[in-house]
Amino acid sequence: MTAERPSPAAPDAEPFWRTTPLARMTRAQWGSLCDGCGRCCLLKLEDEDDGTVAYANVHCRLFDPETRRCGAYARRKALVSGCVILSPQTIDEIKDWMPATCAYRLLAEGKPLFDWHPLISGDPESVRRAGVAVQGSAPEYEVDEDDLPDHLIEGML
Ligand code: SF4
Repeated sequence: MTAERPSPAAPDAEPFWRTTPLARMTRAQWGSLCDGCGRCCLLKLEDEDDGTVAYANVHCRLFDPETRRCGAYARRKALVSGCVILSPQTIDEIKDWMPATCAYRLLAEGKPLFDWHPLISGDPESVRRAGVAVQGSAPEYEVDEDDLPDHLIEGML
């Protein structure tokens, strides 16, 4: 996701994410919900039996670990056919694949944002300090697909 700054709210006003449904947010509001954790760019495995999703500490080839952003955001779907485009129209369908910390998933499930979210903390680095930001993941071209189960991360969802 790319983040744009939404218009500042009046000091006493309820923040927009508590008052505005995802589908009615402005583009800037929607973009600012992304905390930049990078977790959605990690590869995932779904258990065929129970449908649970596990994350591997292996990132998409387009992911830039320095910025924790997609390195080809505008062209990501063309370059990675399996990339799912997050939008107000797709969030309900894909939220169960998103990390439990993701603001889009939290709001789609009617839950509050965490205090470390930059919209609350006012500091983008609070995501890293909270231990939520992706760190030390390997690029997918370095890990054989059959070895992904050896790289699963505990407790992300
Ligand atoms: S998991 Fe959610 S908050 Fe984190 S980078 Fe992806 S869209 Fe943004």
